[in-house]
Amino acid sequence: MMSTYSRLPIAIAKGEGNYLYDVEGKSYLDLFTGLAVSVLGHSHPAIVRALHEQGEKFLHISNIFLNTPAITLAQRLVEQSLGTARVFFTNSGAEATEAAIKLIHKWTAQHGGGRRGIVVLKNSFHGRTLGALRLTRQAHVYQDFPQPDFPVYEIEVGNIDELRAVCKDKQPAAVLMEPVLGSGGVIPLEESYLQAVEQIAREHGTLVVIDEIQTGMGRTGRFFAYQHAGITPDLILFAKGVGGGLPLGGIIANEKLMNLFKPGDHGTTFAPAPLSAALGNAVLDVVLDEAFVQQSQDNANYLWTRIQTLVDQHPELFSEIRGKGMMLGIQTKLSPEQARHLQQDLLDQGILVDITQKTIVRLLPPLTLTQADIDRFLEVFGQSLSKLVQEKGA
Ligand SMILES: *Cc1c(COP(=O)(O)O)cnc(C)c1O
Repeated sequence: MMSTYSRLPIAIAKGEGNYLYDVEGKSYLDLFTGLAVSVLGHSHPAIVRALHEQGEKFLHISNIFLNTPAITLAQRLVEQSLGTARVFFTNSGAEATEAAIKLIHKWTAQHGGGRRGIVVLKNSFHGRTLGALRLTRQAHVYQDFPQPDFPVYEIEVGNIDELRAVCKDKQPAAVLMEPVLGSGGVIPLEESYLQAVEQIAREHGTLVVIDEIQTGMGRTGRFFAYQHAGITPDLILFAKGVGGGLPLGGIIANEKLMNLFKPGDHGTTFAPAPLSAALGNAVLDVVLDEAFVQQSQDNANYLWTRIQTLVDQHPELFSEIRGKGMMLGIQTKLSPEQARHLQQDLLDQGILVDITQKTIVRLLPPLTLTQADIDRFLEVFGQSLSKLVQEKGA
């Protein structure tokens, strides 16, 4: 396999609940969840049941038939978002972005009134295929590769005047945003900013497109994170957690957009894989349960409070925590090397966290995280920090 990732030096043999187990039987509390994918942890009974039930029926039938798990899932995703809308399923997040780009172009050609191009945020991440890469505004991700020639306008997070000027001068077809920038540094957009974005876009006839690939499936406390701001997008991108651990993604398009693709305009052999869709329905059964949502939110609050205390105790190590719900970035003042060292030390003590933008400790825990898990994490984290302080002081 090509070395496109800097891998951690452990091999996983088993996952159960919120823990992973390596080949030697050592356990790791999983605060990364395969990058916001395993929202219910590992081997959740609802997921395993769906896997068996659908596995015994059929795995693949292609898009010349409808498959029932996918119809049900599409219906539920629409109910949870735009009410009147249609879904196009993909196998991944990047493919969801690609589908969105094509759909926006269809709209531009037929109803766009000369509008062209897409507004995106600095440090955004929308995928790594060539079209999606055009919308990913992190130089280290895109700089070595060719760029498709549709206009893209990069603006600063939170700068409303800049957005207003771009909409006026360039007449873009769409604005695309992650409600909480993920790999860009766990940067939550203010609700008032999202509301202003919606208003400005509406004034200029620009489409509002929200990338919920990382923030969706209840991660931030609402099913989709844009719902905190009370806005209504034209187009929503989803993936990561939606397939319960199997590849699945897609877009949800409102009435303006939902009938623009005609047979032959777009497609994929595999998506929506019946097994992925069946697992998706199992995920929704759990994450749409009110008691589950409440419990998960309470635990997220507890996690935030505990980390905030630690951050306050160590102003020499941390500047802030950012994010929303079960999506947290702890901005450290460590060097990239020290941050890697911290990650490794936590791993040695059985805790799996991510480092993004070189110095940010990123947590994407399962929504099933318990108070006991949080206590364990904080205890180990505190010990690692004490060591760091000693080393720094030495
Ligand atoms: C992960 C991610 C993508 C890309 O998804 P892949 O399945 O890795 O192609 C796009 N947008 C956001 C916000 C993501 O977090």
